[in-house]
Amino acid sequence: MKIKNIGIYAHVDAGKTTITEQVLFHTGIVKTVGRVDKGNTHTDSMDLERQRGISIQAAPVSFALGDTKINLIDTPGHADFIAEVERSMQVLDGAILVISALEGVQSHTSLLFEALRKQHVPTIIFVNKIDRVGIQLEKLLGDIKQLLSPMIIPVQRVEQIGSNECSISGLFDYDQAMMIEKLTKYSDELLEDYLNNQVICDERINKIIVDSAQSATIYPLLWGSALRGIGVPSLLEAILHFLPFAGEDSAESLEPAGIVFKIKRNSKNEKQNYIRLYRGQLLIRSYLEGQKITKIERLLKGREILDERLLAGDIGIVYGVDSLKVGEHFGPLGNVLSVRLGEPMIKVQISPEDPSRRHDLLDKLVYLAEEDRFLEYEISELEGEIYLNIFGEIQMEIIRDRLLGQYDLAVTFSDPMTIYRETPVGVGEAYLDMSSKEHPFHASVGIRVQPGSLGSGINYRSAVSTGSLPRGLQRGIEDGVHRYLSQGLKGWEVTDATITVTRGEYDSVMSTGAEFRNLAPIVYMRALQEAGTELLWPVYDFSLHIPRTAVGRAISDLNRMQAVVEMPQTQGDQIIISGKIPVDTCRNYELELRSYTAGQGVFMTQFSGYQPAPKSIDASRRKSMISPLDLKLYLLNKRGVLK
Ligand code: GDP
Repeated sequence: MKIKNIGIYAHVDAGKTTITEQVLFHTGIVKTVGRVDKGNTHTDSMDLERQRGISIQAAPVSFALGDTKINLIDTPGHADFIAEVERSMQVLDGAILVISALEGVQSHTSLLFEALRKQHVPTIIFVNKIDRVGIQLEKLLGDIKQLLSPMIIPVQRVEQIGSNECSISGLFDYDQAMMIEKLTKYSDELLEDYLNNQVICDERINKIIVDSAQSATIYPLLWGSALRGIGVPSLLEAILHFLPFAGEDSAESLEPAGIVFKIKRNSKNEKQNYIRLYRGQLLIRSYLEGQKITKIERLLKGREILDERLLAGDIGIVYGVDSLKVGEHFGPLGNVLSVRLGEPMIKVQISPEDPSRRHDLLDKLVYLAEEDRFLEYEISELEGEIYLNIFGEIQMEIIRDRLLGQYDLAVTFSDPMTIYRETPVGVGEAYLDMSSKEHPFHASVGIRVQPGSLGSGINYRSAVSTGSLPRGLQRGIEDGVHRYLSQGLKGWEVTDATITVTRGEYDSVMSTGAEFRNLAPIVYMRALQEAGTELLWPVYDFSLHIPRTAVGRAISDLNRMQAVVEMPQTQGDQIIISGKIPVDTCRNYELELRSYTAGQGVFMTQFSGYQPAPKSIDASRRKSMISPLDLKLYLLNKRGVLK
């Protein structure tokens, strides 16, 4: 059987769930069309998703188009779940990107398109909600091309026949001259014939469209209204034409290769590994990563069915293999590209309402982290507080609701704070000798800390040869320093620094690796203290599109938000301003912009990196580890007196 694995993406509320529902209805998987507002759709399976009307989990569902099996992966629409979105793209043969005709390109839309483009995923653009009053199709198309890509090409005719009524044609109905002009960019032969005034037949043009779409060089655009079921049959046809088959080798003799793109636990607490297989076969009772596969389910016509084997090209649920983590590969995979779309930029403390359930909470966080590789938590050494690093406040609510709903565990959160970093501003050096009475360790260590260039991370090296200080002891120093990189002078992770071990002496009878590991943090922190640090804060690359009339206001807003702005560009009656802007200062700007431009403005952001924060910002963080600068407490702790 031929298979296509496709994903469906959209900014929240653009209509992804409604489209999925319509597709399942048109292909006979569901008998009635569920409605998001009634909370009875097929893909939003978690209670939480139903209540909120948003999709959180990438829940795959399968349907048939002729003799082709389509595995459709629904993905979350909110930027908080970008990690899950990104992971799902790795396993796709093609994608549908939904844009609401009403709102047009939204910030998340462009982020998604960018990721699809980078990963060369063939993509159909579906412009939904064309039934809404007051839509200007021409302008909309212009905006989409300008904001996303000029290679987005409508493959249908659309005509407005009333304020909220459009008529759309079937596929491959387009303005031939315009289409040829576009396509000559991709086909030299076509260009030549065109210049020689040869007659060019529709079949030939259509084939070029199909080939270019399947190789992700052009992006076909379709129109529709999912709510009214308009344009859905054309969308199905488009999936068959424009998105490629999986087409992998499933010979039984091949070593299997695949990716775990999702992990869930079912009601029996069994771990379900959702695997896209790229090569070979997985058989029940065979071994994967040294563990026996106890059960295999394949997706078929809207259900999961038990099977003996999973073939390359397909997606299935594999049981019994507990060591695999989300996002992990197995087998010889070649070059599967991964694009990271963001980083958690918010830190928040989480506590159980009932303090006696702290251990329980830690256990459950392990489960949640199993499903979401990018959910990071950290436990304070001092008072045992638990912190989460997250993408946004919706993610926080989801975690709260899941802990309550699935595990009956009520939690509270502290106020979220932005995750800053710190970096040395000068050079600092320190040395502690084993003969000193200051510390009890049989070890001497010297360390120098100096600034590195922005974005360079940590450059750690030793100027001491392994001849004069054995490798095992050197490793002790490295481990000790690395452990404390997460907490600089102001409590934030230290980055963009060069750390050099300048000296190291040992006693061949008394010294151990552990002693070097315990001494090194004291020396490192003293060097860092001498160097001094400054705060770095996260910044976005931004692009602001506004009508000319709003430029004055926009520039003063950008000033207030401390943006660094490049030369504004003019495009038609729009002005485009791009540059870098601190994450902290532009919260909620999208909403503000919408209101003062009456929905005309677009503000798009993408995580760019860390930059020095203004001196006026004093964001110290409560330390979660005992600071080696507090020598007495540190040494007491190392002796195991304090917990
Ligand atoms: P999702 O967040 O992308 O999954 O979007 P939903 O499918 O949940 O739709 C968001 C809202 O838009 C719901 O209230 C839908 O009923 C509505 N909606 C979806 N498609 C259309 C459409 O084609 N026309 C109109 N007018 N409303 C739509």
